[in-house]
Amino acid sequence: DSRLTVDDLIAWLMRFDEQITRQAERLTELDSAIGDADHGTNMARGTAAVRSRLSAARPDDAGALLKSCGMALVSTVGGASGSLYGTLFLEMARRVGAASELDRTVFAAAFRSGVAGVVARGRAELGDKTMVDALQPTVDVLDTAAADGVPLADALRSAADAAAAGRDATIPLVARKGRASYLGDRSADHLDPGATSAAILVQALADSLAE
Ligand code: ADP
Ligand code: MG
Ligand code: MG
Repeated sequence: DSRLTVDDLIAWLMRFDEQITRQAERLTELDSAIGDADHGTNMARGTAAVRSRLSAARPDDAGALLKSCGMALVSTVGGASGSLYGTLFLEMARRVGAASELDRTVFAAAFRSGVAGVVARGRAELGDKTMVDALQPTVDVLDTAAADGVPLADALRSAADAAAAGRDATIPLVARKGRASYLGDRSADHLDPGATSAAILVQALADSLAE
């Protein structure tokens, strides 16, 4: 099927928490090389808060769910990534409104709005060695797939691959935004932590829908 229900979105965010929790140590390790060694703990705190919110009360519609997730992330993640991930979800929420199901076109448009929000807030462009390097390719794949009528599960698999490729492409880059940019050329030859967590976000959706 090519629609995401509220339950699909909940399954996505629960899996995101699972994966972040599992990989938190590694995310923090990546951040210790070019940042301040807190990205894994920041994200794990945030996704745990999302999990407990969603477990306490099931939101009525997709907008309410995405908004609740965004608020939880903003108030618990902290750091640069907290407001950026928060913005991603709050902008998605704004775009979908009170819809109870999202078809592939609406989801692609919502994700595009979310990433546009991240870019507007953080001012990072593709190639600046940030989460945008994983998020922007995801947007492009989802848009093309929606226009071509590709089933959502297939589109998300391709999107997850594109996000992973964008993540890996950050390795040789010199950071131009965030803490890693303070290192100048010494930021090269390291994977960006935020691009890594963003690839996990997209992979979690692809995986949760494949089940
Ligand atoms: P902090 O750097 O404040 O400790 P985190 O360690 O949680 O925050 O997150 C770092 C990640 O945030 C980076 O790896 C990068 O991907 C992302 N990031 C930092 N600044 C920006 C920005 N201006 N735009 C997009 N992403 C950013
Ligand atoms: Mg950090
Ligand atoms: Mg920090």
